Amino acid sequence: MHKPKTTTRMPALFIAHGNPMNAITANPYREAWLALGKSLPKPKAVLCVSAHWQTEGTAVCAASHPKTIHDFAGFPKELFAQQYPALGAADYAKIVCDLLPANTITSTLDWGLDHGAWTILQSLFPKADIPVLQLSLDVNLNFHQHFELAKQLASLREQGVMILGSGNIVHNLARLNMQGITPDWAINFDLYIKHALMAGDELALLNIANVGDAASLAVPTDEHFLPLLYIAAVKHTNDNMQFITESFDLGSLSMRSVIYQ
Ligand code: ZN
Repeated sequence: MHKPKTTTRMPALFIAHGNPMNAITANPYREAWLALGKSLPKPKAVLCVSAHWQTEGTAVCAASHPKTIHDFAGFPKELFAQQYPALGAADYAKIVCDLLPANTITSTLDWGLDHGAWTILQSLFPKADIPVLQLSLDVNLNFHQHFELAKQLASLREQGVMILGSGNIVHNLARLNMQGITPDWAINFDLYIKHALMAGDELALLNIANVGDAASLAVPTDEHFLPLLYIAAVKHTNDNMQFITESFDLGSLSMRSVIYQ
């Protein structure tokens, strides 16, 4: 039976972006993102936390016309030609700054939309008619500190802001496998995170070192994993959680995506 929605809380979602080519080729991930986009409510703005923007201290981009950043090499011209002309959201950048302690957040014009953001937004909001702002990942914070910082942003969801994390739960570029054979450590780590998300077990998400070698192989550097913590941190007790895609690409990229709404 259809249950009328009684809240205007915007969803929070973590999308596994994987290979940038996913944005322009026919593939099951892009198909899923396009379908997801059609089912999403229309937010006033999207706050994107991408694996591809790391800074000293946390920064929020307040650019009025954030540029499309092609932060990759060795891809076809067609990918470099992509533009995502969404407006920025300086008003929401100000709100983000107000939600966080003044000494932890800087507003900057010196960014735009990196490929972690635009390769996903192109499918979710193809008209580019929703303002977008990016939040960076502070390289000096540990998992717990990222999680505590992100919690303070949860109220944005009640203010019409959709929070979008973009990364990969398993991301090991040195172990890519062109035959698409996924090693056990990748499968095991992805399953560990799946179960942690299903159980709402925040400590399991934060203490991945307990998983041992599989964690060091799945998360050799933390930037692709961290956006998931930002999404888990802003979940509301009334949210339902759903996986959007759950498979592996190129062997060692988990394409598990999750939405709280
Ligand atoms: Zn990436």
